[in-house]
Amino acid sequence: MKKRKVGIMGGTFDPIHLGHLLAGECAREGAGLDEVWFVPVFLPPHKEQTPGADSRQRWEMVCLAVEGNPYFRPIDVEIAKGGKSYSIETVQILQQRYPDLLFSYIIGADMVQYLPNWHRIDELVRRIGFIGLKRPGTEIRWDLLPEHIRSCVTIVDMPSVDISSTVIRERLKTGHSVRYMVPDKVRLYIEEEKLYG
Ligand code: ATP
Ligand code: MG
Repeated sequence: MKKRKVGIMGGTFDPIHLGHLLAGECAREGAGLDEVWFVPVFLPPHKEQTPGADSRQRWEMVCLAVEGNPYFRPIDVEIAKGGKSYSIETVQILQQRYPDLLFSYIIGADMVQYLPNWHRIDELVRRIGFIGLKRPGTEIRWDLLPEHIRSCVTIVDMPSVDISSTVIRERLKTGHSVRYMVPDKVRLYIEEEKLYG
């Protein structure tokens, strides 16, 4: 039997925005995935803390953002575990919990470049492949990636979306609109929770 393919879209999602959602959709189509699972980190290994919202709020925004898309699912494995979220541990947990699924990891170009710094990357690339998406501001330097990492990355096409959570937090802080940059439900949630003000 052919295994169902699931893409793991990890991130801080502080907040989740249209770049994340489009990345998930393009990865799904481009790599023929059956589902995309959005996995908010509890604490990113490369950041000391998340800049804006707490983990409950980031989780709730992810849930609101993927609502209504039958191919997208929010997964709380890292938030439920707590502590620093290492992808290798998440992948181990998911592969153990769902032995019948075939997982891959979805990442933007900035993360592709950063892969050699990921915790236990050599073990990770033996377990899972990566789907990479172009991201404005990052030209992937393939020559800087070791061969055993490079060969695990498949690039799929995505229209450039020059949006980041950092820009959204900045805009909110300075009183600018983020309408059409985040899903409407997320925008209303941000207002209700008085986030990033
Ligand atoms: P921040 O500015 O806080 O770092 P971010 O917009 O980079 O936020 P993350 O939660 O850090 O969002 O990213 C989660 C994943 O989504 C990463 O793999 C990142 O490369 C990818 N990603 C985020 N925004 C885009 C985008 N506009 N285009 C392609 N990939 C993206
Ligand atoms: Mg980022």
